[in-house]
Amino acid sequence: MPKDAADAAKIEAASGARPSLLRRGILLVLSSPSGAGKTTLVRRLLEAEPDQFFMSVSVTTRKPRPGEVDGRDYRFVDAASFKALREAGDLLEWAEVFGNCYGTERQQVEYAIGQGHDVLFDIDWQGARQLAESMPRDLVRVFILPPSGKSLEQRLRNRNMDSDDVVAGRMAKAAGEISHWPEYDYIIVNEDVDESFRALQAIVAAERLKRERQIGMSDFVRWIEDDL
Ligand code: 5GP
Repeated sequence: MPKDAADAAKIEAASGARPSLLRRGILLVLSSPSGAGKTTLVRRLLEAEPDQFFMSVSVTTRKPRPGEVDGRDYRFVDAASFKALREAGDLLEWAEVFGNCYGTERQQVEYAIGQGHDVLFDIDWQGARQLAESMPRDLVRVFILPPSGKSLEQRLRNRNMDSDDVVAGRMAKAAGEISHWPEYDYIIVNEDVDESFRALQAIVAAERLKRERQIGMSDFVRWIEDDL
C-alpha cells in the first residue's frame, strides 16, 4: 500500500511539518435478496460520494442484456478468456450463477483501495465468502433484509407483472439468499429507505476510521508527542 505515501509521511515528520494522514479504502459488499432495496441504497451511496466510491465492474461470460454496456455493467468475455483469468490468479473471487461465470478482477480492486478509494460490490454470498478469504482486512459486509416476508413478496409482485409461479420461484431464491445472513458483519432491516441509508453511511464512516486503515498515524502521533 502506498509505500510512497508512508515514506512521504516519514519525511515530513522528520522536517517538523505535520505528517500527512492517508487512508486505505474499504471493500464494501452489499448483499440482499432481490426486492429488499439494495439497488436504491447502492445508487444513493454512489450519488452521495461520486469521487470516493468505485463500483466494482465484474467480468462475466453471460451475454449482455439489452441496454447493458461493456465496461460499465460488466466486462463481457468468452469462456476461454474467463478460464485464463482464473488460472492466472487474476480473480479475487468468482462464482458460477445460472450457468454463467462471474468474477472480480484483482488489479482494479487493489489499485483503488491503495489510492484510498472505497470499492462497492454487488456480488452474491459466494463472492463475499471468497473475498473474506482473499482480503479479510479490507472487507466490510452488509446484508440488507426486508422488514418481513410479506413485504418482500409484495415488492416482487409490484415490480413485475409476473405469474404466481415466477413470483414463487423468486421467493424461494430469496429464502436461499437470506439464509446466508450470519456470514455478514452488519445487518440492516430496510423498513425505511432514508433510515437505512443513514445506517449505511454510519457503518462506512466508522469503518473508515478504523486504526489499521489510517496510514501514517504512528508518525502523526509521534509528531504530537514531540510538542508535549
Ligand atoms: P446478473 O446476471 O443478473 O447480472 O447477475 C446474476 C448474479 O450474479 C447476481 O446474484 C449477482 O450478484 C452475481 N454476480 C455478479 N457479479 C458477480 C461477481 O463478480 N462475483 C460473484 N460471486 N457474483 C456476481
